[in-house]
Amino acid sequence: MKQVLTLSCKLEVPLELRPIVDATMRAFAAACNVVRAVAEERETTNKIKLQSLVYHDLRAQFGLSANLAIRAIARVAAVLKAKHKGSTFHPTSVDYDQRIFRFSEKDWTASLTLLGGSRRFKLLVGHYQKALLVGKNPTSAKLVRLRNGHYYLQIALNGKPPAAKEPKGVLGVDLGIKNLATLSTGERFGGAEVEAIRDRYQAMRAVLQAKGTKGARRLLRRLSGREQRYMAWINHTISARIMRFARHHALTVTLEDLTGIRNRNKVRKAQRHRHYRWSFYQLRGFLSYKAMRDGVALVLIDPAYTSQTCHRCLHIGSRAGESFKCAHCGYSGHADYNGARNIRLLGECVTLPGHSLSCLLAG
Ligand SMILES: [Zn+2]
Repeated sequence: MKQVLTLSCKLEVPLELRPIVDATMRAFAAACNVVRAVAEERETTNKIKLQSLVYHDLRAQFGLSANLAIRAIARVAAVLKAKHKGSTFHPTSVDYDQRIFRFSEKDWTASLTLLGGSRRFKLLVGHYQKALLVGKNPTSAKLVRLRNGHYYLQIALNGKPPAAKEPKGVLGVDLGIKNLATLSTGERFGGAEVEAIRDRYQAMRAVLQAKGTKGARRLLRRLSGREQRYMAWINHTISARIMRFARHHALTVTLEDLTGIRNRNKVRKAQRHRHYRWSFYQLRGFLSYKAMRDGVALVLIDPAYTSQTCHRCLHIGSRAGESFKCAHCGYSGHADYNGARNIRLLGECVTLPGHSLSCLLAG
């Protein structure tokens, strides 16, 4: 199973190099616009054909290196194939492949080909990025400039998980705001204990906010930093335990895919916990990077059926607060546990031979 992760790393671009970086972005965007015009005129999105039409012009006109010209053509072809219409390319990014981008783990730098040659830049990376980059030889990246003037390198990591065991089963993980994680084994993380500490912070926040003095605001900031560190520590602990368990038992970890729209409901509903949405997404992030680092397969499934379906008989049941009841087979239990079991079922349908999605939809 292929796992792709884009790792965003801040790039240190010294003042004297900014003009050349920005000029490269302008040349790349201008080249893309020329390629687009030719592609539309000739009505083709074929990379090879476009290359034969514009490659030499791009190099001569914009001073692009061979592979920067090829990347510009590739980007336009991809955009047109995806049927994105209209807008012009803006000088805010450049694509890189293994001939014009090299990552060096020894000194945490990346060398990038710009107009007039290649330059080496320091990557400002933290533990998270380092853990993912160690031992890797990434072959593609995108250099971007944000509105605030900072530069980032988005490095694509093709995670062939290191020495992944053949998965023997699936571990369903239901993530939530109140119960942070519920496993299909029945184990639950977070809940009452974390809740109590959050409530304490919430109460202190309310008092300090009401006070509104300068000193109160300062204390508020310090508290919120402490609370964020506490939640990050909890999230690290939970994700590490889940991954250790999955690796030990050779299980594929399955989560809900929350990139769609309707699923955000799940987060939106929890108004009382609005303050903790970031923590919810942080735990997801930790799980996906540890899965890649530890060689655990990770699968995302459609969450459409996970919360209302009864995992025993696959009929629709009803959820009230934290409990789930099925009128069809009489099952009742913790709603998040039922969700985790459904996630596991869907994960099995996707990953294990002999299972098919129709088995679920039949209910
Ligand atoms: Zn049932």
